[in-house]
Amino acid sequence: MKSKKSRATTFERSEVMRRVRSKNTGPELFVQRALRQRRIKYTLHAAALPGRPDIVFPQQRIALFIHGCWWHGHACKRGNRPASTNHEYWKRKVLRNAVRDRAASRALRKDGWRVWVLWECRLRSSRLQQLLRAVQPRGEHGEKKGHPSQVAQVTAASRAGSAGHPGRRTPSASRSSR
Ligand SMILES: [Zn+2]
Repeated sequence: MKSKKSRATTFERSEVMRRVRSKNTGPELFVQRALRQRRIKYTLHAAALPGRPDIVFPQQRIALFIHGCWWHGHACKRGNRPASTNHEYWKRKVLRNAVRDRAASRALRKDGWRVWVLWECRLRSSRLQQLLRAVQPRGEHGEKKGHPSQVAQVTAASRAGSAGHPGRRTPSASRSSR
């Protein structure tokens, strides 16, 4: 069973490599660079996961696919471009890819992963920014700087005049402070 699977994968990959060499350098590296710039940790090509996502964020449990529009049948100009030769053959192949993509997404979601797809043609859209926000480590930018000092101010104010806080829900606390 294992050998059957790996044979199929090798066949698949050699074809992909032949046709779109730049696929593994262009869009994927573009995203990786954006991640590195923000010091976001990621894992590449998680082979153990369904569909082998291009990039995985284990902490946030987000699996990211960076899809070439033509190869994965995106409904865009690039995705709709007909193959120059063997049109039917490639059409079937792309269709199979799309079916496999959907199955992989389903399997990942079932396992509790959030699945993101970045299409090649939309790498520069706000979608990438959304993803970057979603995977940004919470400790660094998630906490606003003003927040802790605000809390400190409130605490100081309540300590200074606890009587001036009619809205307080802890009467026992204000009683004990007196
Ligand atoms: Zn596209």
